[in-house]
Amino acid sequence: MRLVFAYVALFLVEVPLSTQMSLGQSIDGRQAWSIVIHGGAGGDTKNWKPEKKLARQKGMHRALSTGKAMLVDGESALDVVQAVIAILEDEAAFNAGRGAVVNHLGRAELDASIMNGVDLSCGAVAGVTTVKNPIALARQVMEKTSHVLIVSEGAESFAKKCKVEQVNPDYFLTYHDNADSLRENRILDQQPSEQHYGTVGCVVKDQNGDLAAGTSTGGTTKKLAGRVGDSPIVGAGTYADNRFAAVSGTGIGEEYIRHAATYDVIAQMRYASRTLDQSVHEMIENRLPANSGGIIAVGQDGKIVLQHNTPSMTYGAASSDGRFDIGFGVHQTEEN
Ligand code: ASP
Repeated sequence: MRLVFAYVALFLVEVPLSTQMSLGQSIDGRQAWSIVIHGGAGGDTKNWKPEKKLARQKGMHRALSTGKAMLVDGESALDVVQAVIAILEDEAAFNAGRGAVVNHLGRAELDASIMNGVDLSCGAVAGVTTVKNPIALARQVMEKTSHVLIVSEGAESFAKKCKVEQVNPDYFLTYHDNADSLRENRILDQQPSEQHYGTVGCVVKDQNGDLAAGTSTGGTTKKLAGRVGDSPIVGAGTYADNRFAAVSGTGIGEEYIRHAATYDVIAQMRYASRTLDQSVHEMIENRLPANSGGIIAVGQDGKIVLQHNTPSMTYGAASSDGRFDIGFGVHQTEEN
C-alpha cells in the first residue's frame, strides 16, 4: 500500500528542473527532436506581393533546413534557436534584423530574447539600432551578465564590448534604392494592408530532451520611439521550461504583455494540468483579443502546437518523425 502511495505521489509532485532531462529518454539517451519557427502573424496573404511571399517561403525553408540539420547533428536547442533566428534576421522579408519596420521617426529599433528551458536562464535586448543580429546579443546578455534585459545605448555598448557585429543603422532600411527618400517612403509604404508583419520566433526540443525559445522583431510599424513590445519580455513573447514547453508569440505586443501570454501557456499546464494544445488554444481563442496574433510551441514530449487568431501566420515545422512543412497559417499551406 505504501508503495502505491509513493507511486501516486511521484506523479503529483512537480518534477524538479534538474532531473527533467532523464524523462522519456530512449535507450541510447537520445530523444526525438522537434522545431517550429514563425515569421509573424497577421495580414491576409492575398494582399501580399508575390515576391514578398516567395522571399518569405525561401527564408523559412533556409532557416528550417538549417535547424533540422543542426538537430540531426545533436546540437543544443539553444544553439539551434540562435542560429535559426539569425538566418531570419538576415532575410529582409521579415520584420526582424535587416528587414525591421521603422518607428514614427523612420528609425529601426530592434528587440529580441532567448530562453533556455534547462535552467530558465534568459537574455534580452530592446531598442537597439546598430546590432545586426539582436538574438546574438540577447544570448550574450544571458551568458555574460547577471541581467536579463538590457536596452538602447547600454545594449549597444555591451555589443561593442562583446564584439557582437554592429552595422550602420541604414543597414535596416531595406525597402528602396533611393537613399534620400528612404525613411519617408518606408513609412508610407507600410499601409495597413501591406504592413510588414514578420516578427520571427523559434522553439526547439533537441535530442537531449532540452527546450529553448527565442523571438526577434523590429516591433510594430510607426511605433513611438522607445516603444518596447512583447518580443524581448520573457513571459510575454518568449518562454521555455524543460518541464513543460518552449513558446514564442507574435502579434500585437501590448496584448501579449497584458496577458503574460507565453508564461500563461506554461502556467495553465503547471497549475491547471492542461495539455499544451489546450493551453495554447485557451490563450489564442479565449484570452487574447481576436485578430491579435499567434503562438508556436513545442512540448517536453516533442509535440508541436501552432495556432493564430489572425488571417495568417507564416510558419515552418519539422521533427524527427519526418515532418517538414512550411505554410502561411494553420488553414493555409505554402501553395496558397
Ligand atoms: N509582437 C511584436 C511587437 O509587438 C510584433 C509582431 O509580432 O508582429 O513588437
